Amino acid sequence: MNENLLEFLKGKFENSNLNRLPENYGGGKIFSHPLIGIAQGSDPIFQKFKETVGPEHLTPLEIWMASGQGQVPASDLHTVSIIFPFTDNIRKESNTPITLPKMILPAEIYSVARNFAKDFRNYIMSQTIDFFQNKGFTAISGKLSDAYTLVAKKDFYSTWSENHVAFAAGLGTFGLHEGLITEAGCNIRLASVITNAPLTVTPRKSDEPYANCLYFAKGTCRDCIKKCPANAITEKGYDKTKCNRYRVKVAREMVPRLRSILKSYSRRINWKYKAHNFPVGCEFCQFGVQCMDKNPMASRYIDWY
Ligand code: SF4
Ligand code: SF4
Repeated sequence: MNENLLEFLKGKFENSNLNRLPENYGGGKIFSHPLIGIAQGSDPIFQKFKETVGPEHLTPLEIWMASGQGQVPASDLHTVSIIFPFTDNIRKESNTPITLPKMILPAEIYSVARNFAKDFRNYIMSQTIDFFQNKGFTAISGKLSDAYTLVAKKDFYSTWSENHVAFAAGLGTFGLHEGLITEAGCNIRLASVITNAPLTVTPRKSDEPYANCLYFAKGTCRDCIKKCPANAITEKGYDKTKCNRYRVKVAREMVPRLRSILKSYSRRINWKYKAHNFPVGCEFCQFGVQCMDKNPMASRYIDWY
């Protein structure tokens, strides 16, 4: 069934109008093609995420039940992670920022693509749920469920991290910039669905969480450190607070410029509050870097065989 699902998703990526930029930005595709990975619901790594992400991060079974589904053995469930790689055109144009006197802003085309991406991602999750339901199975989306929220405490994280779920499904590992470095690079968006359909697990090539990053694997690169205008990435790691502060500044400048085109989305914070926002991105740390559009450590897997 993995292959059928991938073919189904390729068709949606090719034909959906939601995967298109507005005409004044060329009208081209936002995402090139999907990649998918499958993890088993009983994989112990989901328990580990309660330590690495936060105690409120849910396992597939927990989010399944929180979405109104009955108790089942966790091994009956699979998570399907879907990777959305931005097109080469968007990646190329996004490497040139808008320069203001005191800061830089992402290229307009990227902010628009990043903003429209959420609608397409939600559509793809709904379509994937339909795909399984039409075959007689049940499926839910963690991100679209009421159990999904941003947890804002001293730190902030979500109850369902798409990056971590995709790592569990063998789709990539983290980079120094904390993005997921996949075979299609790190300049991607992600989504996932949980289902009781009998899918084939795509095993992780390594449980080492930073195996695909040149800095952690070889002590080289550091491109993302140089690219970040907020000094949010150092050899010690990624500073979420500094990054977020810069993102807020970007949004403050970018949203008024693009308001007539941008879509607004609601966000749950601490389970209660729904805030509306206009995501416009930043991600200089992903453009023009060695892991932008590929896994720079891919050759090590060839060496193993
Ligand atoms: S840019 Fe280089 S150091 Fe940064 S995450 Fe990518 S591979 Fe790692
Ligand atoms: S998203 Fe922007 S601020 Fe955050 S680490 Fe990347 S370049 Fe820096």
